[in-house]
Amino acid sequence: MSEHPSETLHFSKNWQQQLAEAFTKIEDLCQYLHLSPNDLPVSVAASQGFPLRVPLSFAACMEKGNPQDPLLRQVLPIQDELDTYPGYSHDPVGDLASVAQAGILHKYQGRVLLINTGSCAINCRYCFRRNFPYADLQLGKQQEDAVIQTIRQDQSISEVILSGGDPLLLSDARIAKLLGQLSGISHLQRVRIHTRLPIVLPARITGGLLASLAVCTQQLIIVVHCNHANELNPRVGNACKQLKDSGITLFNQSVLLKGVNDNVAALCVLSEQLFSHGIIPYYLHLLDKATGTGHFEVSAADAVALIKQVQAFLPGYLTPKLVKEQAGALSKLTIM
Ligand code: SF4
Repeated sequence: MSEHPSETLHFSKNWQQQLAEAFTKIEDLCQYLHLSPNDLPVSVAASQGFPLRVPLSFAACMEKGNPQDPLLRQVLPIQDELDTYPGYSHDPVGDLASVAQAGILHKYQGRVLLINTGSCAINCRYCFRRNFPYADLQLGKQQEDAVIQTIRQDQSISEVILSGGDPLLLSDARIAKLLGQLSGISHLQRVRIHTRLPIVLPARITGGLLASLAVCTQQLIIVVHCNHANELNPRVGNACKQLKDSGITLFNQSVLLKGVNDNVAALCVLSEQLFSHGIIPYYLHLLDKATGTGHFEVSAADAVALIKQVQAFLPGYLTPKLVKEQAGALSKLTIM
């Protein structure tokens, strides 16, 4: 479908402007998609505390007039979020218990995760961090030196993971400073960045960002987060190509979500499309049981049946590992 002139104008703006113009009102998103909020199970109550937030670059990948669109389902606050389910909680993966000091989670041997920001460009309704107290725990500029000191002193740490929120929402200068500080630590071998921005706001991948990433002297890995092949388009492809051409290894992690990607065809096309964009389809996560997300759950038994069928269609390197995170475990648990 051809682009509306207002979309062309929007996409000509820089990433900060595109981010500032993200949809934050249910009515505006519905109007853009030619849908009536009255025809959808939307819930203003569900959006309180975790509001709607969708960049146009992601919304433009949705099918207009389709209330069942798999991308819309990922971002639309609906009444089902208010239902309670046994076993669901505010901190399903035990992150709070893993806080080593402000801004650092130390969960797995040899790796530490920095909570660089609490902000995201998009609010995914199934997110396990939707109830996370970022304001208290994110890494402020003033704590960065202490965190770098901690990593420098702990020789067992070989990998630092920049996470959030979305760490690529930090300014180029802040990213360059952080990577520069990490580069001076000789026992550190890898820096991994977990981000959804190349997928949902590809305009973020600028020459300035690539220059900031080039400050990193360790192996640099970017793990993107894409759940459905419709999230991939030429802009996303171009962003990923620039990252790839900069020598960065790209992996993808998806979450298995009811009504989004819980069928063999969707998973196969996703893997094929990711690989054609230079991204290795690495993890398929079972849903983390965060309060408000139970309607997305696919059971472990159904997930195993699905991935077995996927294996029958795809080579091993295109079949993601089916995993789940368990609070207190020493690693992610491989289901298959
Ligand atoms: S942390 Fe990732 S999954 Fe969660 S809302 Fe942000 S972008 Fe979405």
